[in-house]
Amino acid sequence: MATDSFAQTLTAKQPRLLAAFKHIIAQNHLAHAYLFAGMEGAGQPELAHWIAQRLFCLHVTDDGEPDGTCEECVRIANGSHPDIVTVAPEGQRIHVDQVRYLKAEFSKSAVEGNRKLFIISDAEKMTASAANSLLKFIEEPSGNVTALLLTTNKQLMLPTIISRTQVIEFPPLNAQALQQTFEQAGIAPNQAQMARSLTSSVTQAQALLEDDWLPQASQALWRWFERAVKGDSRSFVAVQVNLVGLAKDADHQLVMLDLIAALFQDLLQLHFQVATTALTFGQYQQELTALTTRLSDDQLIAATELALTAKRQLASNISFQNVLEGLTLKLWPIFQTNA
Ligand SMILES: [Zn+2]
Repeated sequence: MATDSFAQTLTAKQPRLLAAFKHIIAQNHLAHAYLFAGMEGAGQPELAHWIAQRLFCLHVTDDGEPDGTCEECVRIANGSHPDIVTVAPEGQRIHVDQVRYLKAEFSKSAVEGNRKLFIISDAEKMTASAANSLLKFIEEPSGNVTALLLTTNKQLMLPTIISRTQVIEFPPLNAQALQQTFEQAGIAPNQAQMARSLTSSVTQAQALLEDDWLPQASQALWRWFERAVKGDSRSFVAVQVNLVGLAKDADHQLVMLDLIAALFQDLLQLHFQVATTALTFGQYQQELTALTTRLSDDQLIAATELALTAKRQLASNISFQNVLEGLTLKLWPIFQTNA
């Protein structure tokens, strides 16, 4: 990665957040723990590394930018700076041992008096014991230490962690710009439209589209959904027969639940007639519109809440199949009056 690319990327993706953190650091108001939350590709790692360079750079420019070329900046860009410790999942999880290592580094810095910065990627993947171990540390901050937790799934973070960090929400990238970026990367326009409601990252979008996974998954979900909202018992069977096989790993399971939530979001948008241009399931707009005209506000809101709860259930170790079957059973009575 080029040494000046953090600022460049952020200027394109999150100019307001970049300006805000420039100001915060210039005023010496940096908090000791932040949670950077937003879609994949929204710029969380870039901002974390920009902050690192800004804090350690030997020649900060007059307008508050790290120069990107000094010894410190170069080591940060290379990921080899001794005072910046990065923790990322090993396998699917961040384990308690990794947090213990981090805490040991923290206490060293307290003795040495050096500034240290900790970056925890995919922080929602901390095990409960890792999170609890980190919690104690965040509660008793020591002088020159800043912790940056990055996540693309804030709803999976423990509330106790969220409440002890300053949460910075990264807004989704501008829809038009994202559509253009995806299309330039060779993604078909209708697929780009669907992918950008799930991710802001070209790499992740391409991974989801590999072997036509995303179109297949959305089609299967749509067939399940059409039946579920009619209380058709075949929707229950479809979970095991059609959906479980598509969710081949934990990431794809989460994306499928995101797609279900997006379906209900589309319905809500059509129902309340707001911003209908960016439907995730745009290819089913006619059917969705027909459906929304015979649903009440209460039905839609209740169903949307259920869809959002599904993701938390998955995080609490209920199997994907059980989560979806449970959701199907709960949807039936909500929509029964319109069958
Ligand atoms: Zn520098």
